[in-house]
Amino acid sequence: MGKDHNELLALNGLKKTKIRVALLQQFMNVAHAQSYNDLQGSLSNEIDKSTLYRNLTSFEQAGIIHRINDHTGVSKYAFGPSPKQGNEHAHFVCEQCNTVYCMKKLASLQFEVPKGFKTNNVQTIIKGICANC
Ligand SMILES: [Zn+2]
Ligand SMILES: [Zn+2]
Repeated sequence: MGKDHNELLALNGLKKTKIRVALLQQFMNVAHAQSYNDLQGSLSNEIDKSTLYRNLTSFEQAGIIHRINDHTGVSKYAFGPSPKQGNEHAHFVCEQCNTVYCMKKLASLQFEVPKGFKTNNVQTIIKGICANC
């Protein structure tokens, strides 16, 4: 991507705040998807619950991050636009540690649905064991 924090925020009409920069930094530094609790744990001193939630929502709407729903029922967030926002990719879920990774070079599978059905979103989830386990 090659964009810095300022550019990324400005491009999306988001005012630069200490919290947004910290949150953005956290997404850029961590290679796997993070849950709300992971993020709060990492940023605990800088951010309160509702602020974190609000900023996650604006980041998601702006396509700075995307949300992944895995089998644990806990939403996780990762840096970059979502597959349906034109950033086609599959996700790898580790069955050992429940970590979710974005598979940047692997597109989501395309499915053909019966006549009269309309697909809004396809999430390709690959299950297995990650390199850390
Ligand atoms: Zn793992
Ligand atoms: Zn992803």
